[in-house]
Amino acid sequence: MLKMHLLRVDLTHKEIKASNVPEKLEKAYIGGKGIATKLLYESLTPRIDPLSPENIIIFGIGPLNGVNLPGASRLTCVFKSPLTFGYGESQCGGFLAPKFKKAGVDFLFITGRAEKPVYLLVEDGEVEIKNATHLWGKDCYETEDILRKDHGGEVFSIGQAGENLVRFACITHRRGRQFGRCGAGAVMGSKNLKAVVVKGNGEIEVADPDGLREFRRWMNENVVSKLESMKKFGTPSIASLTNEAGVLPTKYWEKGNFEYFEEISAESLQKFVKKSTSCYGCSVACGKIRKSKDIEVEGPEYETLFALGSLCYNSDPKSIIIANDLCDRYGLDTISTGNAIAFAMACSERGEIDEKIRFGDGEKIIELVKKIAFREGIGDVLAEGVKRAAEILRVTVEPVHVKGLEPPGYDPRGLYGMALAYVTSQRGACHMRSCAYRPNLAGVIDRFSTKGQAELVKDREDFYCVVDSLVYCRFLCLPIIGMDWKDVSKLLKIVTGRNYPIQKLKEIGENIHNLTREFNKREGVTDEKLPKIFFRYPVKIYDKDVVVKEEDFEEMLKEYYRLRGWRSPDQD
Ligand code: SF4
Repeated sequence: MLKMHLLRVDLTHKEIKASNVPEKLEKAYIGGKGIATKLLYESLTPRIDPLSPENIIIFGIGPLNGVNLPGASRLTCVFKSPLTFGYGESQCGGFLAPKFKKAGVDFLFITGRAEKPVYLLVEDGEVEIKNATHLWGKDCYETEDILRKDHGGEVFSIGQAGENLVRFACITHRRGRQFGRCGAGAVMGSKNLKAVVVKGNGEIEVADPDGLREFRRWMNENVVSKLESMKKFGTPSIASLTNEAGVLPTKYWEKGNFEYFEEISAESLQKFVKKSTSCYGCSVACGKIRKSKDIEVEGPEYETLFALGSLCYNSDPKSIIIANDLCDRYGLDTISTGNAIAFAMACSERGEIDEKIRFGDGEKIIELVKKIAFREGIGDVLAEGVKRAAEILRVTVEPVHVKGLEPPGYDPRGLYGMALAYVTSQRGACHMRSCAYRPNLAGVIDRFSTKGQAELVKDREDFYCVVDSLVYCRFLCLPIIGMDWKDVSKLLKIVTGRNYPIQKLKEIGENIHNLTREFNKREGVTDEKLPKIFFRYPVKIYDKDVVVKEEDFEEMLKEYYRLRGWRSPDQD
C-alpha cells in the first residue's frame, strides 16, 4: 500500500510542511474521517474559539477514493464547529477526492489566519499560498469560475456567508456539491481562506484490478440497480414516504404532514428537471439540475426541499429553487438556513419579534437568505443559528436543535430510531451518522417502538465512521440495500491488499466514534438532550397524537450506553 501524504499549512506564519501519515495511524484509522479526527484531536488546543486562528480544518481522503467505482468520490473535512463549539465534520461529493488522490495529497491540514485573503493551490504533492484579494466578496460560482479558468483542476470555495462568519456557512464545489453542515465555511472565512484549487494527474493504483472489475459488476447489479427511484427523481424521491408516514417536518416542527405537499413532491419537481449530474465515476447520477426562469440549480435535494419548503410552510417550488440557488452561491447550509427562517416565522406568528415574517411566504424566504448571508437586520441574528438566536431575541418559541445543530427532515416523533440518533450523533442533530430513518421508514424495525433501536444506531454509527474513512458515498452504503460490513472488508482487500476482517472494521468504527465523543467531552459539549417539543407537543400520525415518550427515550439511551460500555447518561 502506498504511503499517505499529509500537507500542513500554517496561514499565519506562511509555513508549509509535508510528511507521511505514520503507518500505525493508517492501520488504526484507515483514512478520511478516522485519521483526520485523530490528527485534529491531537493537534487542537482545547476550548479555543472556533473562529480564532488556532482552529484547525483538515480535508482528507481515504484508500478507496478515486478508484473506478460508483461512490468512491467523497472528501471529508473535520474541524471545531463554530455552530456547536464541538466536533464538526462534513463530507462533499463531486470530483475533489479523486483529484486529491491524483495530486498525491491525502490530508490537507490548515491552521492560522492569513493577513489578507488567500487561496491554496495544491498541485502534485505541493501547496502554494496565493493572493485572493480579487476574489473576496465574490460568490462561490464566480470564485470557482475564475479559479478554474486560471488553473484548471477542481475547486472548493466559500461565498459571502463564509466571509461574514455565518455560523452555518458551508463550502461549495461545482455549484451543487457542498460540505454542508456545522459551519466549515465560517472556519475558512475566519482564516481568510477563500478557496482551494487541486490539480494532479498521478496514477491511482489498485492491488487487485481483476477483483475490482468483478466488484464493480457486482455493485452495479446489486446496489446501483436498487437506486432507480433516486436515479429518476434524485433525493426528493423519499419525500412522499416521509409525508405519508407523518414525519415530514412542517411549519417549524408543528406538524409531520404538509397539506400542500403535492405542489413540492418529487413528481411535481420533475417538470423543472433539465438534466442529471453525477459525482466522479457514479452511474446513479442522483444530482438533478432544475431550472426555473433564468435560475438553474443542482437541487433541491430532499433536505433543502423540507427546510425551505414544508418547514417554512412554503408550497411554491420556484421560490425553493431560487432560495436553494442563493444558498449555494453565498455558501449557506440549506438545512440550518431553512430551520433559522422557519424559527423566525414561528416567532413572528406569536408576535415575539417585530418583523413580519409569515409562514408560507416564498418571497420573504428569498429575502431572508440574503439577509442571513450578509448579516443584515434580523439576518444577523439568524446567522448565529437557532440556539443563539433564541437567546439573543429572548423568545419563548423553542429553538429546535441538538448540541446547537438544527435537525434534518425526519421528525423523531414518528421515527424512534431518529430520536436516539439525533442525540448520539456527535456533530449534533444529524440523519447521516446512522441513517436510522431508513430501516425505521422501511418497516424493518418498528418505528414507534424502542426495541432494537439502540443496537441499530450503534452498529450504523460505527459502520458510517468506517465509510467516512474510505471515503465513500452513503447512498451506495444505505441500510438494507447498500454495501455492508462484509462488502467493505472485501473491497478494502481488493484496493489496498490489506486484510480488514469484519470484526477489525467494527472495532475501528467504534474507536472513531468514541474519539469524536472524547473530542466533545474535552470541549464541554456533552448535551445529549432531545428538544422538548418532541416529548410534549404531539403530531398527528394516522389520526393518532404521537410524541416521543420520555421513558421510552431514556430506555433507548440507557441501552445505547450499555452497548457502548459508557457510563449511563445521568452519571456522565
Ligand atoms: S449516489 Fe449521488 S451523491 Fe453518491 S456518488 Fe453517486 S451521484 Fe454522487
